[in-house]
Amino acid sequence: MSDSKPRLILVNTLLFVLTFLGAAVLVPLYGFSQGYQTEALWVAFLFWAWSGLSITAGYHRLWSHKAYSAHPVVQWLLAIGGAMALQNSILHWSSDHRRHHKHVDDNDRDPYSAGRGFWFSHIGWMLREYQQVTPDLYNNVRDLQKNPIVMNQHNHYGKWVLATNVGLPALIGWMTGDVLGMLLLAGVLRLVLVHHGTFFINSLAHIWGTQPFSDKHSSRDNGVLALLTFGEGYHNFHHTFEYDYRNGIRWWHFDPTKWLIRALAKMGLAKDLRKVPADRIESARLAMQLKSSQRLLAEHHSASEWLTKLEEEYDRLLAELQRYYAEKQRQLALHKHELDRSARAQLAELRQTFEHQKRQWQTFRAQLHAQVA
Ligand SMILES: [Zn+2]
Ligand SMILES: [Zn+2]
Repeated sequence: MSDSKPRLILVNTLLFVLTFLGAAVLVPLYGFSQGYQTEALWVAFLFWAWSGLSITAGYHRLWSHKAYSAHPVVQWLLAIGGAMALQNSILHWSSDHRRHHKHVDDNDRDPYSAGRGFWFSHIGWMLREYQQVTPDLYNNVRDLQKNPIVMNQHNHYGKWVLATNVGLPALIGWMTGDVLGMLLLAGVLRLVLVHHGTFFINSLAHIWGTQPFSDKHSSRDNGVLALLTFGEGYHNFHHTFEYDYRNGIRWWHFDPTKWLIRALAKMGLAKDLRKVPADRIESARLAMQLKSSQRLLAEHHSASEWLTKLEEEYDRLLAELQRYYAEKQRQLALHKHELDRSARAQLAELRQTFEHQKRQWQTFRAQLHAQVA
């Protein structure tokens, strides 16, 4: 790589700078001098949710990862909302994103590699011509090229962007009697919030947080980021199990994208929701716990008895996990009438033993960490 930086992309730079300045200066200025209508606040909020969720539920989980399939009506709504989010077409975004997953942290091949620092992964990668435009640019999205909705949005992208970012807010503002106020809130401020919310997933979600499922990539799980990103803050889970339609897997994990997809499925507008089997998720988590304890022992050159005991506890836990999930799997394959009370009791017992072993594992690790650290 040469030392000189690639050429600046003027359109992108101006867009990001001007919209940011507009949100930081004009929006409060207009608020203090003229005030905003309540309608403008509501429309801005709705547009924020629509465009934001179009990126997470549409661009990301539907098109980039095929985590579920959606009715054409839903696809259209997500394609239009995605144009409103102004992050390039579905086709281009998905191509970049699939490359990001495939080559994550590879500074030459991951388009927004976190290894190149916060600024680059957040926004810098879009400001200069880092990406070579070659004929094989879209080789990894051939499936999407067959989708007429995706291709319509790609071919008429500029028009969709103007219609949703300028035309729609101006029209609604005209109807409510404050075009400029509507453009500032539902246009500019809303756009900047959606932009940086998404950008945080590429930057902060690869820097700040925990790695409960894998440390093979820089991605992190972060509940705070999930609040700002429609649930995409559970990024370590996502990079480990990318085709799962969920990012936050616990019911209490804030993941409105997952809730939206589930609601669409309930209405018959989405189907084939893909989920990673629970035992694989649990095994990944336990393997990471083993790894962190092993690392701690190695760092402190601790006695080998601790290590032997740790590995014994782990093997025991893994055996219980496998027994429980194998039986669960077997029973799931059976018809309801084939399941008698004893089968259910057996499964409950296996679960109890597994939970017990898990508690023992946690207690043992807590003792170990207290002793060694
Ligand atoms: Zn992804
Ligand atoms: Zn990532």
